[in-house]
Amino acid sequence: LAQNERESLFIVTDFAQKYYADQLRTEEGQSIGQSYFKERGFNQSTIEKFGLGYSRDGWDAFTKHAIKSGFKLEILEKAGLSIIKEGKDPIDRFRGRVIFPINNVAGKPIAFGARILKKDTKAPKYLNSPETEIYHKSRIVYGIYTAKNGIRTEDNCYLVEGYTDVVSLNQAGIENVVASSGTSLTKEQIQLIRRFSTNITILYDGDAAGINASLRGTDLILEEGMNVRVVVFPDGEDPDSYVQKVGSDGFVNYIKENQKDFIRFKTEVSLQKVGNDPVARAGLISDLVETITKIPDAIKRAVFYKEVAHLLEIDESVLITEGNKLSRKRV
Ligand code: ATP
Ligand code: MN
Ligand code: MN
Ligand code: MN
Repeated sequence: LAQNERESLFIVTDFAQKYYADQLRTEEGQSIGQSYFKERGFNQSTIEKFGLGYSRDGWDAFTKHAIKSGFKLEILEKAGLSIIKEGKDPIDRFRGRVIFPINNVAGKPIAFGARILKKDTKAPKYLNSPETEIYHKSRIVYGIYTAKNGIRTEDNCYLVEGYTDVVSLNQAGIENVVASSGTSLTKEQIQLIRRFSTNITILYDGDAAGINASLRGTDLILEEGMNVRVVVFPDGEDPDSYVQKVGSDGFVNYIKENQKDFIRFKTEVSLQKVGNDPVARAGLISDLVETITKIPDAIKRAVFYKEVAHLLEIDESVLITEGNKLSRKRV
């Protein structure tokens, strides 16, 4: 029975993906959805590659269509596509939004991210499917299906924040890119990426939120034995806006020139934050040491102790002693 339900969820999610993609070709879809994508610089083959779509600006267009096509309301609700409130008619979850299907590693749609079109509303910019039996957001990254071959051949994975970053980079010919969708990576997501490469380059937005996000959760990536680099974009830019501005060669060059090893990045950002305050500086040192102890490889650890000692202008042996203390405490 459980197996049947999973299968039904795959079928109805696939049905919904095709429905939303078809909606782009309707009059409303053309004038609102398609023109939105055009404004964002997405071409037709990109739209098709990602199966992008449009959900109508009404209450229940999808739900009615799905029921008419033979789907039970119960499975529509379980798939997160319809919302049922007692005593009321069921409504569509996604209304008046452009749709980004989220595919599993085999390329099957399992959920949706939906972006609002109207500006100045109180509604959230992005609305996502809820957790279902086939969609666990902590286990998937957006774009893994289109990215996996590229990650393997480049032996590197670009990690971005958003759906549109993945889409724009693909359009620019850069396929080895996945999105965390605005949250810090989980162990399962890291392990999914690690099936294809042990190198990650974090390309987060060039704002304070992006920089802080790239500092958070990275210890987990190091713990999994991955090599992490970080690139910060110019103020106010994200990978989508930046690649559209400078083109794919400009983008790749920018990365080459600005990528930093994560530990060096963290040290530099933290140093700027603490300034000369000795207490804050001491806190920073234990924080960095703690990060280094997360690296499973002893040789890599030694290299980082040396580098951080140099950047902080303190004796390497102090860091190593501190690190050994921390590691002993942990076991
Ligand atoms: P756009 O270019 O369309 O504005 P973005 O991807 O640059 O989108 P960000 O604000 O940088 O948007 O957010 C990064 C990612 O975080 C989004 O792609 C989305 O996955 C997630 N996100 C942003 N806002 C929300 C929200 N209100 N609710 C849920 N997820 C969100
Ligand atoms: Mn952002
Ligand atoms: Mn953006
Ligand atoms: Mn962004």
